Amino acid sequence: MTEKITLAHGAGGEQMDRFIKKTILKHLTQQDNVEIPLSMLDDSSVIDDIVFSTDSHTVQPLFFPGGDIGSLSVAGTVNDVSVMGAQPLALSSGLIIEEGFSFEEIDKIIESMSKTARKAGVPIITGDTKVVEHGAIQQCMINTSGIGKRTPILDKNFEIVRQYRKCSQRWLLDGNLKPGDEIIVSGTLGDHGIALMSFREGYGFETTVRSDVACVHQLLKSLLEIGGIISAKDPTRGGLANTVNEWSEKSNYGITLFEEEIPISEGVRAACDLLGLDPLHIGNEGKVVVGVVKEKADEILNQMKKHPLGKDAAIIGEVDEKKGYVKMKTEIGGKRIIPKPIGDPVPRIC
Ligand code: MG
Repeated sequence: MTEKITLAHGAGGEQMDRFIKKTILKHLTQQDNVEIPLSMLDDSSVIDDIVFSTDSHTVQPLFFPGGDIGSLSVAGTVNDVSVMGAQPLALSSGLIIEEGFSFEEIDKIIESMSKTARKAGVPIITGDTKVVEHGAIQQCMINTSGIGKRTPILDKNFEIVRQYRKCSQRWLLDGNLKPGDEIIVSGTLGDHGIALMSFREGYGFETTVRSDVACVHQLLKSLLEIGGIISAKDPTRGGLANTVNEWSEKSNYGITLFEEEIPISEGVRAACDLLGLDPLHIGNEGKVVVGVVKEKADEILNQMKKHPLGKDAAIIGEVDEKKGYVKMKTEIGGKRIIPKPIGDPVPRIC
């Protein structure tokens, strides 16, 4: 029997990871002169000091509490470029629209893209539009690509890292963490996925949980100005559990999370309890997780809290002395392993 693609192959967890490595990367091997190649599976690649990333948005429904496919498609790519430490410069927009989709809705979506891009200061400067037969896709999908550039702020950030420990890296990569580094999250986890799921399925939590969709690049820039950051990531598909597992795998050290420090809103907690979901597996669209040298962790945390997108920020973990896996010290004093999610408990959220 020939193996078929399932939703899990695009869900950001273990199964997608295997799919990308075994099926996609084996063909895309021409990566000469690429400083950060595709095979590193970071948030963006880097060539000639240009940071380059792409993201397709297939969210359903297109409009949801706190955002829509337009704001999401801009924020998603701005965030992937910025978590490398770059300043996002410009975006592309590739629209694929189903025949029969309404002018009114596409107008609302493009207006939302424009508004989000304007607020972010990252213009959409190139694009493409395709229309496919009714039924070939659902309503509309948007691909955005983004480029970003290196600025002196990033060099200054790494100079500060090197005051405390050895570091030969030039970008904020998944594999940069070293023992003792602290892990800080910019705010509550799980809001986007739970808002989407609740709105879609009608569980009723949509009155209290809204998507967090937002561009985090200005927040991140203010942190780089303080310095001492070595990794950054937007915990999208697969949630925080996926983010820290990627960091642990690529850095080759264990990571310990502190359960009581992890910010989760009451609405998300209630929804997860009811539905049997782990909030650490749920995707976010306006949060950033950073790895910081421990000497700068408090300063970075304070700076985060000053920003509207970072008011609920917290230090939630640290990198262990030894190679290992991700574990969590629980509120009742135990320890449990946090594996990489297999698939996404909430599909089609981005
Ligand atoms: Mg990302």
